[in-house]
Amino acid sequence: MTEQQGAGPGPADAPASATQIGARVLPAFDDHHPPEQELIEDCVHCGFCLPTCPTYVLWGEEMDSPRGRIYLMEIGRQGEAMNDEMVRHFDQCLGCMACVTACPSGVQYGKLIEATRQQVERRYPRSRRDRAFRALIFRLFPYPRRLRLLRGPLRLYQRSHLGTLARRAGLLDRLPERLSAMERLTPALGRLEPVPEVTPATGTRRRRVGMLTGCVQRVFFPEVNAATARVLAADGCEVVAPAGQGCCGALSLHAGREAEAQAFARAAIDTFDAAEVDQVVVNAAGCGSAMKEYGHLLRDDPAYAERAKAFSERVRDLSELLVELGPVAPRHPLPIKVAWHDACHLAHAQGIRAQPRKALRAIPGLEVREIPEAEICCGSAGIYNLVEPEPAAELGDRKAANVLATGADLLVTSNPGCLLQLRNALERRGERLAMAHVAEVLDAAVRGAQPGSLLDR
Ligand code: SF4
Ligand code: SF4
Repeated sequence: MTEQQGAGPGPADAPASATQIGARVLPAFDDHHPPEQELIEDCVHCGFCLPTCPTYVLWGEEMDSPRGRIYLMEIGRQGEAMNDEMVRHFDQCLGCMACVTACPSGVQYGKLIEATRQQVERRYPRSRRDRAFRALIFRLFPYPRRLRLLRGPLRLYQRSHLGTLARRAGLLDRLPERLSAMERLTPALGRLEPVPEVTPATGTRRRRVGMLTGCVQRVFFPEVNAATARVLAADGCEVVAPAGQGCCGALSLHAGREAEAQAFARAAIDTFDAAEVDQVVVNAAGCGSAMKEYGHLLRDDPAYAERAKAFSERVRDLSELLVELGPVAPRHPLPIKVAWHDACHLAHAQGIRAQPRKALRAIPGLEVREIPEAEICCGSAGIYNLVEPEPAAELGDRKAANVLATGADLLVTSNPGCLLQLRNALERRGERLAMAHVAEVLDAAVRGAQPGSLLDR
């Protein structure tokens, strides 16, 4: 299958009717799905969401809280121009959805910020530098083939310790902050470990599941995909990982690039429908939450609206499916103290908190420890730690301190971005802590591997 070309809307798509005054756009929102008035009115301004909003926690600014951002959407609807300041407050939102969990009035902030971001991307003239950096991200990350081309040079760079030398010489500090963040957040690359197109179930087949291999996950964390397929097979799933699958569109969706996200979503639906699977399993929280939103994303598309809704209902996070099925393969003991980190797109966006804990606690000898302030984002948030590196680093530092306070031997989560963000935050403190994806821990327990296989790497 040919990789799709970036089709994201940009300032060039701003409608002729919009008046730009310097960096002000009037009207703020066009008629194509502006943030909905009814959803805005659900907010009763109680402020219960404020203590869980990471940007409000950092700065104490009303306009950097969920309530403040909803107010900005409201005044945008009432005729206020979209200006630099307004866009900064929207850009600084991590999209972590902690406010959705905290809100007693059921405000659907996810739909509001998604609609707002689409308006910003379509209408607001970002600076040339910002556009160039975003173009780099969106022409690279959603395309596994392009990412794979980078593996060779990156491995060479990492093996030659050029990065360490450049860092010691202070050369990396001279890079623009965003490029420096990109360098720091690049994972250490191991061997490529492709997942077979079909992995047969061990014993009786209970389900035939499709597996999203992801873009970054497939190229930078192949061992997580390999572990995922083994665990699913051990618990009775035939695992189908279609070779032609592309990006699920999560990064594009969460950044407001509507047309691009829709194109990726249509392709994913076609791929997995053709594979005739019962369910589609996802091992990256951000991807899973986006795929569960396909019904909403494609609601205007007569050819896909119904299919997208049905597809979203079949999407499962790995831990969600394993707990739904119940374990078949015996779990061998792993006497390890584990700090479980709730990825925001798993806990807040998908409401999945109990399942990964239950799956881990089923391993004899394994102790799950809770991280203080678990509801506050680690600062990874899709591309947030690349486009907003300073607040992301502050949040990473805060999370790292909370993780260390647990006294755990191993940090476990379900999202590759969180692992990179926390590894980087711990390095800044001069600390090291073993980290693993939940699939790798379950796989080690199923295979009867020694704890050292997780702790000594
Ligand atoms: S999504 Fe996260 S950062 Fe954005 S307003 Fe809600 S809590 Fe704050
Ligand atoms: S979003 Fe919810 S919790 Fe926050 S102020 Fe509005 S109603 Fe209250």
